Amino acid sequence: MANQDDQFKKVISHAKEYGYVFQSSEIYDGLSAVYDYAQNGVELKKNIRDYWWKAMVQMHENIVGIDAAIFMHPTTWKASGHIDAFNDPLIDNKDSKKRYRADVLIEDYCAKIENKIDKEVAKAAKRFGDDFNKEEFLSTNGRVVGYKEKIDNILARMGKSLENEDLADVKALIDELEIADPLTGSKNWTEVKQFNLMFGTKIGASADTAMDLYLRPETAQGIFVNFLNVQKSGRMKIPFGIAQTGKAFRNEIVARQFIFRMREFEQMEMQFFVKPGTQKEWYEQWKETRLKWHLSLGMGEENYRFHDHDKLAHYADAAADIEFKFPFGFKELEGIHSRTDFDLSQHEKFSGKKLQYFDHEENKSYVPYVVETSIGLDRMFLAVFSNSLVEEELENNTTRTVLKLPAVLAPVKAAILPLVKKDGLPEVARKIVEDLKWDFNVVYDEKDAVGRRYRRQDANGTPFCITVDHDTLEDNMVTIRHRDTMEQTRVKIEDLRNIIKQEVDVRTWLMKM
Ligand code: ATP
Repeated sequence: MANQDDQFKKVISHAKEYGYVFQSSEIYDGLSAVYDYAQNGVELKKNIRDYWWKAMVQMHENIVGIDAAIFMHPTTWKASGHIDAFNDPLIDNKDSKKRYRADVLIEDYCAKIENKIDKEVAKAAKRFGDDFNKEEFLSTNGRVVGYKEKIDNILARMGKSLENEDLADVKALIDELEIADPLTGSKNWTEVKQFNLMFGTKIGASADTAMDLYLRPETAQGIFVNFLNVQKSGRMKIPFGIAQTGKAFRNEIVARQFIFRMREFEQMEMQFFVKPGTQKEWYEQWKETRLKWHLSLGMGEENYRFHDHDKLAHYADAAADIEFKFPFGFKELEGIHSRTDFDLSQHEKFSGKKLQYFDHEENKSYVPYVVETSIGLDRMFLAVFSNSLVEEELENNTTRTVLKLPAVLAPVKAAILPLVKKDGLPEVARKIVEDLKWDFNVVYDEKDAVGRRYRRQDANGTPFCITVDHDTLEDNMVTIRHRDTMEQTRVKIEDLRNIIKQEVDVRTWLMKM
């Protein structure tokens, strides 16, 4: 655990030191669970968004994008169920006065049991050596099977109680498991209460005409209310999708894990409209397609897993998360939800407008079913950033810090370095910058010895360093150094563009899907 904490602290301080993420309004001691993206962070975030947009919108003939407003008519949220049901169960500790999500306390308790299973596995693996069969051990070892049963029972009971709104039983479960405040150890809890996560605000100047509004807690509803406009103006035929990226706001109770859980964050969502009855197939297909998108970035297959929901949201008939191994364990990165015709039917009911599709093949109208893919851009940022940050032992007994960002996402693609600040080398380096900047985000760096500059660019995640030396003046060749292998090769200046393009091009990466 200490190691995980240390690694996570390193991620946070590296993000600050290298201009990726700052705390919001830091000079005023910050605002809890709100963050700003800095000069490099904004580029990484944009590149992730573009990578998603390319794969989800531009590579699909039947998916288009929109950019709906954050403010929406307040009835939207009545229809969607957010006013009545977008709640988290919260519990306060009477001694520490700290507030927690009751379900998260219980899930964390289960995660501790899971750690015990991991320890048993590690012990057995050591004992049995090469003969160790993990699957067999997990299904036959009495202690491990007992632990697993315990976790399953706890989660099943919690899921059922939350679904039935039986908050007294959620509290009873916390008492029975003797769950204590993680900060103080106190078990002196209040009752569990529901807490609505939407931020409210007002539109209009005078008190009697002002209208209560909400900051949208998800981007999806902007897509549903535009369903018919897009379908008609784009002459879209089912099945088709509408995608958008944008800010969402949630008044999260527990907001401690850096940009994992924020109060203002960005989502990348796609709603796929299908013929009723075909949703199951599309749900399976989108699960697979989205996992492939993640894997195309080469961040390790073992770092992803699916998690089927125990408790389905009020609108869903099937739901799964793609979980990623963050520095603090496996957690949700993306959700794939089969949302039935719930949203469109509700908007029909509340608006009095028909939101149906006329299917020429079937010769009838119906409300389409929807399969949604929904990923948090900030969470994806954290996944990429934390997975890329490594300390490497080098042969000469030193270490280097490298941010091994997938090259397609790296904020700066190449740094151009004159070996020395004289003899006409800066001028040549500047000329290379002037040429390459049409195609890539590149920087010029002449400060410090070249070795220090390499290290700085490694820590910044820059895939290439290009060094101009005295020979360059004679032969028009430069040294190109690769971040991950530290390999250096001598290449012609005129070939640089193609060499870089080959490694940072979206095509190269998405082709792996
Ligand atoms: P969680 O269980 O972690 O609260 P959720 O199930 O409420 O998440 P969804 O409503 O399915 O999340 O939202 C889709 C995606 O949006 C999530 O998979 C996550 O990546 C992202 N997301 C949700 N809430 C936040 C938040 N507070 N901060 C950052 N990203 C978020």
